[in-house]
Amino acid sequence: MKKIVGLILSVLTISTYAQTKQDKVVLVIHGGAGTILKKNMTPEKEKAYRDALAESLTKGYEVIKQGGESENAVIEAIKVMENSPLFNAGKGAVFTHEGKNELDASLMIGNTMQAGAVAGVTTIKNPILAAKAVLQNSAHVMMVGKGAEEFAQTQGLEIVDPSYFKTEERWNSLQKVLEKDKEKMELDHDAKTQAYVPFNFVDEKFGTVGAVALDNKGHISAGTSTGGMTNKRFGRVGDSPIIGAGTYANSEVGVSSTGWGEYFIKAVAAYDVAALMNYKKLSSKKAGEEVIKKIGDLGGDGGMIILDKNGQASFPFNTAGMYRGSITQSGKITIEIYQ
Ligand code: ASP
Repeated sequence: MKKIVGLILSVLTISTYAQTKQDKVVLVIHGGAGTILKKNMTPEKEKAYRDALAESLTKGYEVIKQGGESENAVIEAIKVMENSPLFNAGKGAVFTHEGKNELDASLMIGNTMQAGAVAGVTTIKNPILAAKAVLQNSAHVMMVGKGAEEFAQTQGLEIVDPSYFKTEERWNSLQKVLEKDKEKMELDHDAKTQAYVPFNFVDEKFGTVGAVALDNKGHISAGTSTGGMTNKRFGRVGDSPIIGAGTYANSEVGVSSTGWGEYFIKAVAAYDVAALMNYKKLSSKKAGEEVIKKIGDLGGDGGMIILDKNGQASFPFNTAGMYRGSITQSGKITIEIYQ
């Protein structure tokens, strides 16, 4: 009898030890998925991306370490990437067909199911802050264009001249895509009538940013911010500001997507991860894999970052690469770019 009790006690001790030892992930981020290949990357450029991702993780982690809320960790992490010209969000956003930067962002708090989003804004320095203001200080979930900008002003958010978002690299990308579109239209008459379709979109790197955080209370939040898609037109809005497509969080899991937005909207991608976990009892990892497979089967591409209430992180994607990173409770940073 004594032996059995001893055995049970030692099993209990080992499993408790394993639990306390488990260094769960508290924050995951992405800086976009797409044709990101090692052979096209210089060591300097790769270092710049890695540094920016590490800074984003560190800023978000600070919030959690100090006992702050998951939504604020998400915001701090995303702000770093919005302020960096490397990513397609805030400064460094891609250009529309007309040569403008139109930004989208969204934020969701899982335990309260509060959500906020803005789309097509051109003067708000940090769109993720505008998403939070919508969530916190309005009766709405989504605001677009001029109205969203007016609202941001009433909230005391930093307003910039639209030229703030411009970078040479993104401008040159637009010129290249426009050139390819012209060639295509010269060859194909039908193409003229569908000129709004970004013919070369599939080959474009995406570069949207996102974060999912799990705070000390076990609450999860997710957020996403983007300039959308190079050469977008007619007020096109992708998945990033759409709750359930680009961003979703509940009390079990948080998701932020990146990739070919139209497919993520049609697949209701971010919510589908949560639904598969809820209805089909899949793990967060399995659910993410299933959704990315679905996106691929539909003809789309991209990826997502997923963090569940147990601190289990996963990063499914079907592109050549995805800028991504995580940080654990003890502060261990992991950053990856390629498959
Ligand atoms: N999903 C974004 C959009 O379609 C693009 C991206 O992820 O980079 O607007």
